[in-house]
Amino acid sequence: MISPEEVRSALSSLLRPRDPNEQFTVLGAGSDDIETGRAYLTALGDGGWAVPTWPLEFGGRGLSPGQAAVISRELARFEQPDLYPFLVGLSVVAPTLLELATPEQCTRWLRLIKTGEEIWCQLFSEPGAGSDLANVGAKAVRDGDIWRVTGQKVWTSRGHYARRGILLARSDPSLPKHRGITAFAVDMQTAGVDVRPLRQMNGDAHFSEVFLDDVEVSDDDRIGDVGAGWGVARAALANERGALGTAGTGVGAPADRLLELLTEREPGAVVRDRVAAAHVESEVNRLTMRRARDAARTGRAAGPEGSGTKLRGSAVLKETADAALAILGPEGVVGDGEWQTLFLTAPSISIRGGTDEIQRNIVGERVLGLPAEPRVDVEPPWDQIPH
Ligand SMILES: Cc1cc2nc3c(=O)[nH]c(=O)nc-3n(C[C@H](O)[C@H](O)[C@H](O)COP(=O)(O)OP(=O)(O)OC[C@H]3O[C@@H](n4cnc5c(N)ncnc54)[C@H](O)[C@@H]3O)c2cc1C
Repeated sequence: MISPEEVRSALSSLLRPRDPNEQFTVLGAGSDDIETGRAYLTALGDGGWAVPTWPLEFGGRGLSPGQAAVISRELARFEQPDLYPFLVGLSVVAPTLLELATPEQCTRWLRLIKTGEEIWCQLFSEPGAGSDLANVGAKAVRDGDIWRVTGQKVWTSRGHYARRGILLARSDPSLPKHRGITAFAVDMQTAGVDVRPLRQMNGDAHFSEVFLDDVEVSDDDRIGDVGAGWGVARAALANERGALGTAGTGVGAPADRLLELLTEREPGAVVRDRVAAAHVESEVNRLTMRRARDAARTGRAAGPEGSGTKLRGSAVLKETADAALAILGPEGVVGDGEWQTLFLTAPSISIRGGTDEIQRNIVGERVLGLPAEPRVDVEPPWDQIPH
């Protein structure tokens, strides 16, 4: 069992102590700095401190989630950049690879994810396949040892920084929609990949449209069996929901800063009431995350409980931002400070990684056992459904 003292002493030679007055950040909003995060991950790389649950052979420490929690508590004492640009690689792709990729693929890709050397993006959503992700229409056609991929992806977070993307493409349109999908890792520098950043309402251009025109992907870069891409997608989405609901969405705690703002500005009773409501929501979220962490400690994989923490996390951030702007009054709608950035960024968390409505469907069907929505497009071949 690793002790907190042992961890603290090892980390203190690698990292600087945390500044108690640091600004909080959300989803890396307002910044295009990726080098600070990369330097941080590289510093933690040799010891496997950023990825303690990964197996030793892939650069982790082979620890249980419970032991890893000791490390994350100690890491919180030190300065930490917003690692959101690395979130897809570290928290979505890596656990999915560990579950479903070959040892050779893990050896090739995981070390570069761990040190931040290679950023990954998630090439899942398309203009006609967001909530209904199994409707993806990007085509993958086999040509000997390679596949040729053509199609359009959208909302690809950090696509313009990414070296690799985890891609879902339709390899057999004659099968029902969930069965004809295959997953790949695409080198974003391959000829035919065109990444076009999109401007968001918070001023960032952190996600992109990605056009794929006859892009060659080696069969060695196929993740899982041909036609088994939906399983890869489900594993990746479960990992993503867990990451967005708990760690990895930013640095610092907006809820604590809200209480500081309340003390500084002493608003009237109506606004105090809103702050109290946001605080209660935040405490409920903290306890929900703790329940999910405790479940993970007993060895349960990320599952539908991630939908609960993601739903609550999105609500907390929005209510915290609303309450802060109510305290600030007109000052809250000018400038680009942390509260304005939070206010303009928080709504996106209700969409990314599956919308609130979709999370509620998952909770309703898989957790509460309510009757499933009527679905008429599951059995027929994908190419016989109107798109
Ligand atoms: C900040 C951000 C980052 C993102 N990053 C990525 C990324 O890196 N890679 C990637 O592949 N995608 C990414 N996405 C895309 C995201 O996963 C999709 O936006 C999301 O799945 C919703 O899909 P859509 O936008 O096509 O909306 P639609 O699916 O068209 O939904 C429109 C509306 O209808 C509702 N709706 C749809 N179906 C149902 C239903 N069955 N029941 C009830 N309501 C329903 C939805 O809740 C929504 O309100 C990102 C999105 C955001 C906002």
